[in-house]
Amino acid sequence: MANDQKKFQALIAHCKEYGFIFPSSEIYDGLSAVYDYGQNGSQLKKNIRDYWWKSMTQMHENIVGIDAAIFMHPTTWKASGHVDNFSDPMIDNKDSNKRYRVDHLIEGKAEQLENEGKTTEAKVLLQQMDDLLKVNDFPGLKKLIEDQKIACSISGTVNWTDIRQFNLMFSTQLGSTTEGASEIYLRPETAQGIFVNFLNVQKTGRMKIPFGIAQTGKAFRNEIVARQFIFRMREFEQMEMQYFVRPGTELEWYAFWKAERLKWHKSLGINPERLQYHDHSKLAHYANAAVDIEYNFPIGFKEVEGIHSRTDYDLSRHQQFSGKKIQYFDNEINKNYVPCVVETSIGLDRSVLMILSEAYEEEAVPTADPTKTDIRTVMHFPAFLAPIKLAILPLLKKDGLPEIARKLMDECKSQFYCWYEEKDSIGKRYRRQDAIGTPFCVTIDHQTKEDDTVTIRYRDSLKQDRIKLGEVKDKVLKAING
Ligand code: ATP
Repeated sequence: MANDQKKFQALIAHCKEYGFIFPSSEIYDGLSAVYDYGQNGSQLKKNIRDYWWKSMTQMHENIVGIDAAIFMHPTTWKASGHVDNFSDPMIDNKDSNKRYRVDHLIEGKAEQLENEGKTTEAKVLLQQMDDLLKVNDFPGLKKLIEDQKIACSISGTVNWTDIRQFNLMFSTQLGSTTEGASEIYLRPETAQGIFVNFLNVQKTGRMKIPFGIAQTGKAFRNEIVARQFIFRMREFEQMEMQYFVRPGTELEWYAFWKAERLKWHKSLGINPERLQYHDHSKLAHYANAAVDIEYNFPIGFKEVEGIHSRTDYDLSRHQQFSGKKIQYFDNEINKNYVPCVVETSIGLDRSVLMILSEAYEEEAVPTADPTKTDIRTVMHFPAFLAPIKLAILPLLKKDGLPEIARKLMDECKSQFYCWYEEKDSIGKRYRRQDAIGTPFCVTIDHQTKEDDTVTIRYRDSLKQDRIKLGEVKDKVLKAING
């Protein structure tokens, strides 16, 4: 189990220092498990979102996108099962009053055993936990925690309450007066906005099965153990696609999307060795297959995306609760049916964390003195995801160099994000661009005035070439679009 807390903490500090991610409302000491994206983080996040959107909608003729509201009719969440079942077993420590998710507490113990080399014991413990969770045996789970002497990380005691279920949905009031107001929920997933619009999209888009509906947007979960930076947040963003298929064909489509989604992750430039499938052995009662795509974060292999074959459960439930017929007439087989759904559900914030983890490197680089090296922190983002694509740096603030640089800036900025900077030594400016992952820096110097050439410096190889000023834009565009 790779667990590199030091790298993880360094990455978190880097994200704050270089405008990627800040704790929310930091001047008031932050809000637990809520984060804000800064100038570089929001651009990186947008680039990932846009790439996903394009891969799903533009690249698939039979997948369309929607943008449903966060607020939905409260019955939606009855139908989806979230009101009754979207809860986790929790336990409180009586001395510290700290609440834990039972599975996280036991998994923490298993990780500790694993780190001590007691791999078999760790596996047995996780198996026992799975067996007890499957049958909701709460007294059995409490006994397991006590037998294992799992202590609270704050009080250090094993003085536990009984285990209870805790619903993860946030609720609020819709309407202005107490009497007239009704309780509604902040959506805990974006998928339901797609299911309730199935007929609207199918009819207005004249969609033929199989077809998909894609959506990105915020989701909210009152996570109890919310830690690990943006991996587990209370407000986060999902990118989901629900693919509607003829019943009986869903497992073929599930296999298709399972392979397709792994390819997508690799296309982000992720080292395939850091990606793995985790097939679910324990399935939700309505699912007939499910798999997670996991990435090897500095905190170990963890889920980034889930692919689920959800049978006809969702549409059937909405048909039942709304009293409206939600069916499709398949003229190839002359039959009406409720379609089955294969969904791909990926967390945008977890994707950002994956890209940040993959890109981050503290690298030894040569210095002018051949006996010494220096350390630079560099983000090796693929060019198409980098927040800034090109930094334009006049060597001096005078002699007409800024004017040439500004002209290049004007020529490029409508095509891609550029950064103009004339302060500090060129070395310092390069380092700042490395730290935010800018793939290209261009320096304008006195020679530029003579022969219209500039120095282009490549972030990853540190190589520098002399190229024509007029070639800069196309070179960057080629790297982004390639
Ligand atoms: P986990 O087991 O980690 O809680 P989950 O299986 O409940 O996740 P899903 O309901 O399948 O997650 O949601 C789909 C995706 O949404 C996940 O793969 C993950 O990337 C993202 N996601 C879920 N919960 C959170 C969260 N609290 N913070 C950030 N991303 C999340």
